[in-house]
Amino acid sequence: MTQKYGKGSLYAIGPGSKIVHYILQEGFCNSKCRHCYMHFQNQKVQKRNLGIAEQDLQNLISSGYSPHLRGTEILLNPEYLSLFSLIKQNYIQTNGKKLSENPSLFDDLHEVGIQKIYLTYPTEPQNMIDISKDVVDEVIKKSSENGFRTIVNFIVTKDISTRLTGDAAYLEKLCENLIKKGANELRFVRLVPFSDELLGITPSSEEMKKIIEESVRLEHIYQGKLDVTRSGQCGFFDLRRELKEKYFGIKVPSPEESGVMDCHGGKQLFVIDLKNNVYPCLFLMSENDKIGEFTGGNIIITNQERIPAKLHLEDCPAHTINSERLK
Ligand code: SF4
Repeated sequence: MTQKYGKGSLYAIGPGSKIVHYILQEGFCNSKCRHCYMHFQNQKVQKRNLGIAEQDLQNLISSGYSPHLRGTEILLNPEYLSLFSLIKQNYIQTNGKKLSENPSLFDDLHEVGIQKIYLTYPTEPQNMIDISKDVVDEVIKKSSENGFRTIVNFIVTKDISTRLTGDAAYLEKLCENLIKKGANELRFVRLVPFSDELLGITPSSEEMKKIIEESVRLEHIYQGKLDVTRSGQCGFFDLRRELKEKYFGIKVPSPEESGVMDCHGGKQLFVIDLKNNVYPCLFLMSENDKIGEFTGGNIIITNQERIPAKLHLEDCPAHTINSERLK
């Protein structure tokens, strides 16, 4: 069987579409997990003016971009929820703490058209600060009971191999627990080491390959009960194509055949920060990674050399570039 475009587990962006991650705020967080994988989490508190954000989003849509709202814990500034309905973004990412404290927020999310809730889950529970795994479990249950598709971002940290050696059924138990709580999707997320702290808990390439193989095996076992997927920065695209064939008999064409890029950063994917600088990816946001500016409602690319997008790649450029920088 040949599959043209495997959305959800290998390619996040279809050919021809252009996605923009529009950052609404930095530094607003009520949790501060050690495994936090976003640049703008540990920044000083600052946010967008709501009216300007509305205008920017309308400009981006008229220019053919599909904007996605991003930026720390949005539920700390619920005035931004109106923007989700404005751009018809049907999902939100949250650590779950506000939903646990104030369950009436589930109604507010329904009202603005949210259908999917992404929550974060740790490899090591002690990596969560100010929120416990039990609270997240409870929010998964409530989210599901309230009719939301509930997606759990499982953050893979380097201790994962010890966990798997200590308990061969560790990942199956994780899946069973999530199914029991009502989760719909388990998404494996790889840390990108853009700081020394993150480097200390980032899984090795070998560990990551093992997790990718395990995740496709679980995807096969739990199909129909729990969708198992992987984030873009998991990399190892050839391995993922091979595993799709091995476990599902699906032959995903090579990027050269399909024209779908392994990395879209800077060609089909852009990030606009609070200063309206443009970057190719959420994980390439240092001064050196800047590729342009958002000005007059348009994205203007000024530095082609820093664009990582490629048809065919072994690993995620953000992972490689950030690892090299910290050496
Ligand atoms: S660098 Fe490319 S492959 Fe890696 S996360 Fe960013 S867009 Fe995806």
